[in-house]
Formats: sequence, C-alpha cells, structure tokens
Amino acid sequence: MTARRALAVLVLLQGLGCAALSPSVPTKPDAPAFSLLRHDIQVTIDPALHRMKGLDRVTIKAGDRELREIAVTLNTSLVVAWVSREGARLPYARRAHQIVVRLDRPAAAGETFALDFDYAGEINDPPKEPRHLRFVTPSETSGHIGPEGVYIGPETYWYPDAPDSLASYRVAATTPPGWETIGQGALTAREVKPEGTVTTWEAATPSEGLTLAAGQFVVATRKSGPTEIATYFYPEEAALADEYLKAAAAYLDAYSAILGPYPFPRFSIGENFFASGLGMPSYTLLGAGSIRRRYTQPYALGHEIVHSWIGNHVFNDGGGNWVEGLTTYLANYYWHELKGDRQKAREERRMMLLSYALYVPPDQDYPVAQFKRKSDPRDNAIGYNKTAMVFHMLRREIGDERFFAALRTVVSEYGGRRAGWKELEALFGRVAGRDLRSFFARWIEQPGAADVAADADPDFHLFRRMPRGDLPAMLNLFVTDTKRLVVMPTGDQKVVAPYAELAERVSKQDSVAVQTADRPSQHEWGKASVLLLGGPAAGAAFEWAKRGVPPGVELRPDGFRVGGKEYRGADKAVLVSFRNPDDPSRVVSVFYGLSQAAAQAVSRLLFFYGWSSYVVFENGKAVAHGDEP
Ligand SMILES: [Zn+2]
Repeated sequence: MTARRALAVLVLLQGLGCAALSPSVPTKPDAPAFSLLRHDIQVTIDPALHRMKGLDRVTIKAGDRELREIAVTLNTSLVVAWVSREGARLPYARRAHQIVVRLDRPAAAGETFALDFDYAGEINDPPKEPRHLRFVTPSETSGHIGPEGVYIGPETYWYPDAPDSLASYRVAATTPPGWETIGQGALTAREVKPEGTVTTWEAATPSEGLTLAAGQFVVATRKSGPTEIATYFYPEEAALADEYLKAAAAYLDAYSAILGPYPFPRFSIGENFFASGLGMPSYTLLGAGSIRRRYTQPYALGHEIVHSWIGNHVFNDGGGNWVEGLTTYLANYYWHELKGDRQKAREERRMMLLSYALYVPPDQDYPVAQFKRKSDPRDNAIGYNKTAMVFHMLRREIGDERFFAALRTVVSEYGGRRAGWKELEALFGRVAGRDLRSFFARWIEQPGAADVAADADPDFHLFRRMPRGDLPAMLNLFVTDTKRLVVMPTGDQKVVAPYAELAERVSKQDSVAVQTADRPSQHEWGKASVLLLGGPAAGAAFEWAKRGVPPGVELRPDGFRVGGKEYRGADKAVLVSFRNPDDPSRVVSVFYGLSQAAAQAVSRLLFFYGWSSYVVFENGKAVAHGDEP
C-alpha cells in the first residue's frame, strides 16, 4: 500500500510540472501476497523455565492474487504443535525461521480468513552489556523470559509475523502469581486466578508489532483527562512513581494540544530489567538506572511520549527515518520554547550544530534521507540533530501556524499507517499552500549545511557548520580528532592507578597513541590533540601544556582555579580543555584528581563530560561546568 501511495504522490508532482525528482524514487515492488490484519493471542509465560506457550489466531488478508500457501516467521526456538483453519488441521513445513502453511482451499484475491497457530518453547537470550565507550545504547537482547524479567517484542518473533505488516492485537497473558504484564493499547481485563494473573490488552490501532514486558511490579495509576497513566516499577523504585506520573501527565497535556488527542487509552511507564530507553505504542520501558536518575526530562520521558504520536502511531515507511528527527525537535528542543525558556532553547540549537561540527567531518557526511537508525554519534548528529534543525527551518519557512497545522494533519491522516519523506513533503506543501520541492531537495536529499557566517546567525536558527577552530575547547574535540595522544603520569602505583584503566580503554580506539609523561616528546604533543592524565603529575608534558592554559585558570597539585573559583580538598577532580599551544586547531584536555579516590570516581565516566571547557567534580559528581574559563 505504501508503494502505491508514493507513486500517486509522484504522479501528482509530475502533473504539477515540479522540478527534479529524487533519483531514489522507489519502484513499485511486488504487492505483498498477503497481509496480517490482526492477532488474537493467548500466551502463558513461565519465567522460571524461560518458557512460553502461545496460541495465536491470525487474521490474514490475501493480496491481489489467489493464495495457496502462506509463509510466516517464528522464532526457531518455538516449536509448532499444529496449525488449523476453522478447526481443520493444515499441513505445514518448517524452514528455519519460516513456517510455510499449505491452505486446504485457496483464498481468493482480497479474501480474509483466520489461521490458528499453537506453539511453545524457550525464549532465553539474557541481555548483554553493550561494549561502547561513550555512547549510550541499550543492552543487547532479541528477547528474554527469565526470573529477572520478561521482554518479548517483534524482534523476538514470539508470534507468527510477516514483514512490514501493520496489525491490531489482542493478547491475554498468563503470568505467575505476583507478576504483572505490560502490553499495548487498553488494559481490558485483569483476573487473579490460583494458577496466575491473566492480563488482557487490546491494541485496536494497527501497529508494527507487539511487545510484552512482565515483572514483579508495583503498579500505580493516575488519570489525565481520558488517559490512564500507569507506572510499573520494582519495589526499590516504587517511591518515584508519583514523580513520573506527574511528569507524564504534563507531557501528555502539552503534546495533545500540539499534535491532537493522545492516540491511545493508556500510557504506561515500565521498569526494565536491563538498561534501555524503549518506546512502544502506549508505553515506554526504562532501565532501573534511568528511573533512579529521574529520567523525566524532555529528552527522556518527553521524547518517549512524543513517540506516541510520531513513530508509534504514524510510522516510518521503509525509506528514510524522519520520525527521530521530528521527535527530537518536538521533545528535546521545542519543550523549552513551550515553557518560555528562550535561553535553553538557544542552547539546544547550539548543541545540535555542535554535534554535527564534531561528529560529521565533511567527507563523512550523508543526506538526511539516508538515515535509518542510530549506531554511532555521526548518525545521531545527522538523523536526530540535523533533521531536528531542518524541521526548525521548515517551521520558520512556512510559519508557526501552518507548521503546527501540518503536524496535526500528519497525525490525523497517517495515524495507524506509514509515511515517508515524500508524503511529508506533499502534506506540508499542501498545508502551506506552496511547493516545497527545493527545500526538501536541499535539506533532505543532499548532505551538507548552510554556507553562512557565524555573525549572520548569532542565535543558531540555521543549520550551518561551525568550524572546529571556532568551537570552545572541550574533550569532544580530542575524541573526534584524527590524531590523538594520551599522556600517562609517571611515578608510583598510587599516582598511576586511577588513570590506567581509562588509558587502556582509550588506547583500543583508532588513531590513539599512549605514552608516559617522562618521555620528552614535545614535537609529538604539538601535532595531536592530547589527553593529559594526572595534571601536574604529568611532569614535562604538563610543563609544555601550561603555555596553553587560559588566563585565570590555575592547575596545582593541591588545588585548582577554574570558572573564577578556587577549589581545594581531597574530594575534588577537574577536567579542563584548552587549545594546544603549538597547534590551536587541536586541544589539550587535562584530567586529574586532588586524591587518588577523587580521580578514580570520575575515570570511568569521563567521556560523558565532553561538551564543556571545564568540569569540576566532587566525589565523582559534576558540581560546576562551563565554557572558556
Ligand atoms: Zn526516539
């Protein structure tokens, strides 16, 4: 269906005599042989044995042609007991992930019919810690059932599925006594029986998949207009429920006013048993660490809630991903405008340009249209931040009234369906009453940024490239330099220990050399960005670096002065960056603690503090930061 709609848009554009069509025009793929319309699932989950047993009645619609067999995907660990149609068993064959079912009589083109699948097996893929140095990613699992918790989603293939299907779901899940299940849509029934708790969820609006989570949760609820908000937290975090319910209510109110009525009857915030920030239709799953850190900010809970409209109600098509950029714009950024905090809004725009300047060298740039998902900071800078800035420019181009009217139209016209950049272009153009081809061609289909001088755009309203030499000195300039040098202090074990693990981790990256401070290598220090560990303990290297220390900054073994303040005490540590005295296009970042413990407490998380010229730590916690000390 998506392909056909895209074609209709193209015909319309050509009819209007529009200019250059994108070379990435989709050609019409073979229409799918069938689509899955609905799943009616009964599932029994046994966490102790990592097992589930499922019975799924799948409603199927034949495509343009007569259908004699269908192939669906199911996790290879799940064994099918039988497949039937109206009570009659059907023959089927298993080929790895695929179940190919032979129909007893052919389905006519367009005919709707139901098949029942009975299956059971083990889902046991315990989440693994991701191995990334400074980029937060969720733990990796394709789905898990265990005593610590249950998480099964579309990528688990825990019910028979077909690619690109948008279906509605009803699920009745039985879990052991004391366990609660979180599902999508409305909670229509919850019965406590001797054998366990049966929870029924009805997701009436079509979506891309069904995710279930379960755990021994404490449930709290609150009403916000017609919407029920619920938290499913483990007892340790249960006291934070109120804070989350309140924050969610504020976001739901604000974004309903902007995007139209919240599309689901309920919004749940679930605590996950592994690190995650996952957004599903009508709920979000956050790791315990996130929940404890008060993950209620616009870029966190706000972002997940905006996904309720954008991404979990209107879906990306198979082309570029516009959903993340728009969600970032509306949540991470626009919330501050909405609250009247112009300073914070300006700072957010600056940060978006900054991430592009740091993580997207011109020779590694790619167009927004090519972004699909984030796997590194470059994807984040393009797919999230640049795309958000492009929506900002589009808003300034067509005006607030038309921009927000178009957003409401996107939700009302494409709710429960997929849309791509082409559909957005047509829709924004229609609402704005003008042709937006050149805007979309420039900003979506081509890489790069506006060629504008900094003084022509002092408030960061345009998507432009800030030259690296103009950025405030910061650790991220070290991180993104093509030549990097880590200097380790020398001396006894006590001096070296807090930095050893950090140096070891950094040294595993490309283009990083590690050396000790007693090596007189001034010619090398001047040709790289340098991370100088140990501060004054780094001997000759520190003496060399001192020439670049800005006025007002003092770095001594027993104390330091940054941001106009003097700091002393064994609990303090500092990270301060400044221009390399021999090559101002590069940086020197100095990190040291006033005691071994103070340095140790920061070491592991140092790279989370890459955005400021200086950061002061007290017992491992950042207590002050700023630019250009
Ligand atoms: Zn997102």
